[in-house]
Amino acid sequence: MTVTVRFAPSPTGHIHIGNARTALFNWLFARQRGGRFILRFDDTDTARSRQEYADQIQTDLHWLGIRPDVTAHQSVRFDTYAAAVERLKAAGLLYPCWETAEELERRRKIRLSRRLPPVYGREALKLAETDRKAFGDDGRKPHWRFLLPNFSDDPFSPQRTEVHWDDVVRGPQTVDLASMSDPVLVREDGTYLYTLPSVVDDIDLSVSHVIRGDDHVTNTGAQIALFRALGAQPPAFGHHNLLTTASGEGLSKRSGALSIKSLAEDGIEPMAVASLAVLIGTSESVSAARSMDELAERFDPAATSKSAAKFDPAELVTLNKVLIHAMPFEEARERLAEHGISGSLAEPFWLAVRGNLEKLADAEVWWKIVQEGPQERPEPAPEDAEFLAIAFDNLPPEPWDRMTWKIWTDRLKELSGRKGRVLFMPLRLALTGREQGPELADLLPLLGREGTLARRP
Ligand code: GLU
Repeated sequence: MTVTVRFAPSPTGHIHIGNARTALFNWLFARQRGGRFILRFDDTDTARSRQEYADQIQTDLHWLGIRPDVTAHQSVRFDTYAAAVERLKAAGLLYPCWETAEELERRRKIRLSRRLPPVYGREALKLAETDRKAFGDDGRKPHWRFLLPNFSDDPFSPQRTEVHWDDVVRGPQTVDLASMSDPVLVREDGTYLYTLPSVVDDIDLSVSHVIRGDDHVTNTGAQIALFRALGAQPPAFGHHNLLTTASGEGLSKRSGALSIKSLAEDGIEPMAVASLAVLIGTSESVSAARSMDELAERFDPAATSKSAAKFDPAELVTLNKVLIHAMPFEEARERLAEHGISGSLAEPFWLAVRGNLEKLADAEVWWKIVQEGPQERPEPAPEDAEFLAIAFDNLPPEPWDRMTWKIWTDRLKELSGRKGRVLFMPLRLALTGREQGPELADLLPLLGREGTLARRP
C-alpha cells in the first residue's frame, strides 16, 4: 500500500505555525515512507474561502519545503458529496431534523438536569410522515444527521459502542459512539459540514493516513463509522497535540504575527520554523535541523506528547541564528544577491559576517560598512587620537590575508604599549563604526589596504 497523506486547510485565513505542524507531520511521515502528499483545500464554505488565501497557503508550504504531489479542491466536488448523501439517505443512515438551536439547547438542559448525557435524543426520528410533510409545507428546510451505529435494534436505546484505532501519534484510542450526538452532515441551507466531504475525499483520494490536530479525536469516532457506512475501510489516524502561546492560548488564523507569511517576511529561515513546529512538544530536543532530510530522520510521531505544547516565538530567533551561523555560502548566494551582495567578495564576506547575524538580511548592513565605510562614526576619544595616527601610519604592506590583523596589532602593541580592549576597540570603531561585529581578522582583507586607509579618522 502506498502511504498517502493529506493536509486539508480551509482557505479562510493565513496558516500559522500550528497549521505548519500538521502539514509537516504529514509531509515527514510520507517522506519517511516514500509516500504521497495531497494538499486538499477544504473550501466548501464558499462565502468564507478565498483564492488569495489558497494561493498564500501554497506559497507558504513551498517556502517551508513542502511540495504536494496532488492539489485538490472540495469546492469542485459538490456532486460527489450529493451522491454520498443520497446513498446514506437510501440506507436510512441520514435523517432530516427540524429543531432550532434554541430547541436543542432547551432539550440539552433538560437532559443534563436528569443526569442524562447531553446528546441529541433522535427526537426527529420519531416524527411521523405527516409531521415531516407539515414542516415542508411550512417552507422549513431540515438539517440532516448521520445515524451513528450505537444501538442494536432500537435507536432510542443507544448502547456503549466502542470504536478503536491505533493512533500513529497517541497509541491505542477508544471513542464511545453512545457518548456523542448524531453529527449533522448537511445544514438547512444545503451546505456541508466538514465531516462528510472529508470522508468522501479521503476515500476517493485513497488516503491511507489521516494526521491532524488532536481537536479532531472525537470526530474520528464518527468519521470511522461514516467510512464504514459508505462501504470503505477507514484509514489509519494520527492526532498530534496542538501548539499554544506561552500563556496557553490556542493559535488562530487571526493570530497574524505567527502566520507563516509574517515569519517569512520577518526573515525567519524556513528550517527554523519547521524544526520548532515539528520538534516542540515531543521527547526530541528542539534544535535546528538544517534540511528536511535531517528533520525526517529525527521525526517520530509516536514521540509526541499528549498535552498541548507551549511555544515561544523567541525560540525561532535562537534557531535562526544557529542556521545562519553555519549556512554555507552556496545556500545563501542567491538571497544575498537579492540584497545587492554579489561579486568576488560575496563569499569571503559571507563567511566573515554570518557568525554575527540573527537574520540573513542583516548582512546588508555589514556589506555597506565593508563597501562604503562606517554608516555612523563616533568621534574618536581624545586619548585615542595619537594611537590611531600611529596605527594608520603602520599598516602592513599588501597582500593582505587573515594574518594581517595579527601582524598589524602585534606591531601596534610594540609601538604603543597598548593591549586588550584599549588596543582593539579604537581600531574596531574606526573601521566599522560599531563596538561589536565580525572578527576584524576576517574583515581586514575585505577592506584592503586602500579601504582601510580611507577609514583613517
Ligand atoms: N479542514 C479541516 C481543519 O482544518 C481538516 C481536518 C482534517 O484534517 O480532517 O480542521
